[in-house]
Amino acid sequence: MRHTWAWACRARLASLTICVMKTWDVIVIGGGIIGLSLAIALRKRGATVLVVERGEPGREASHAAGGMLVDCSVETPAALQPLASASALMYPEFAYELEVESGVKVDLRDQGTIVFPPPEHVYERPGFKLASLLPAPLTELEPALAEPDRPAFYLKERSVDPRALTAAALKTAKNRGVDFASGNPVESVVLSQGKACGVARANRAYHAEKVVNCAGAWSGQIAPHAFPTRPVKGQMLCLVMPSRTLLKHVIRSPEAYLIPRSDGRLLVGATVEEAGFDKRTDAATIQRLHRAALALVPELSNAKILEDWAGLRPGTPDALPILGPTGTPGYFVATGHFRDGILLAPITAEIMGAVIEGRQPGYDLSPFAPSRFQS
Ligand SMILES: Cc1cc2nc3c(=O)[nH]c(=O)nc-3n(C[C@H](O)[C@H](O)[C@H](O)COP(=O)(O)OP(=O)(O)OC[C@H]3O[C@@H](n4cnc5c(N)ncnc54)[C@H](O)[C@@H]3O)c2cc1C
Repeated sequence: MRHTWAWACRARLASLTICVMKTWDVIVIGGGIIGLSLAIALRKRGATVLVVERGEPGREASHAAGGMLVDCSVETPAALQPLASASALMYPEFAYELEVESGVKVDLRDQGTIVFPPPEHVYERPGFKLASLLPAPLTELEPALAEPDRPAFYLKERSVDPRALTAAALKTAKNRGVDFASGNPVESVVLSQGKACGVARANRAYHAEKVVNCAGAWSGQIAPHAFPTRPVKGQMLCLVMPSRTLLKHVIRSPEAYLIPRSDGRLLVGATVEEAGFDKRTDAATIQRLHRAALALVPELSNAKILEDWAGLRPGTPDALPILGPTGTPGYFVATGHFRDGILLAPITAEIMGAVIEGRQPGYDLSPFAPSRFQS
């Protein structure tokens, strides 16, 4: 990418700060897994990149996630399926590269998932029955599961530890020379003659010819475009399994899902709540999830609760991400990944890297176009 210095833009930025010396090719707003993965992809393409983060990178939805890499056609919106499948396929290489470059293990597991689907999925959506028969009796696959009174299916899915993944992505981005500015929110994208030329915080501005909004649930708060993202709260808890291998598979039921980690932790999730930007957990809800876990796996009755937390998924009105160029030249957006942002990080980085570079992304992005919403 080339630097072409826009004088009008510089004057506008200079009015906002006393020292705007450095410029970048691309500014990424938001240091969650989407912003970090994209920053790495852009660096690999030769761009200079600054990530501007409101707080500490990787501490919001990407820190709160369970890390199931769900690309099953029964559970994935049809329009998202091509990206979901492509991203799931990219995961082993994506995770391996981050591990090698950062030295952080991300616990990518491929034991698969056992699903107890809600009855309407079994009977109305036959996809489950055809593709997903259990490879062995349930008592062999997961002896600790309570005797089920409903059908179970097997999905060849992976899972990852999102906290480790985000830490690995942060370290990799830094190793590759991505710059970071943390501690204050971006308030607006700075424009010159109708084009993006940087971002402004309360007392400081940064210059780049291209800006991409990866601010998750907060993406709609940054002027000039009010993308219709909203926070969708998810509460979870983490148990310590009595033995590290008590459960091998991810278990998904309508009441709760269970995600084992290789170090013996077991995540139990998650609620889907419209609660604004409130990230507090609620004791009754955590207890309900805990009881659901015990009903699925009675041996967990002695398991210690390590922690509970809540995070804010970036939701959109049609539950699809918002990806691509905005109506403002030089300003792009990659947000609204809702329940699948960990899964979709590799493909989002690849296609947005191409779009920002001005190349064809190789996928039909029209279902995700920012222009589908009036913003
Ligand atoms: C309980 C729960 C369970 C989940 N489970 C899964 C799962 O199993 N699998 C899966 O694929 N996905 C899962 N998700 C969804 C996934 O976590 C999200 O889709 C994904 O993390 C979104 O990443 P992001 O980078 O867009 O957002 P975030 O991680 O929220 O990052 C956005 C960043 O932008 C920063 N920011 C916001 N406003 C500004 C501003 N004005 N200026 C600068 N920076 C700003 C924030 O501080 C934050 O660091 C889950 C989410 C939750 C909450």
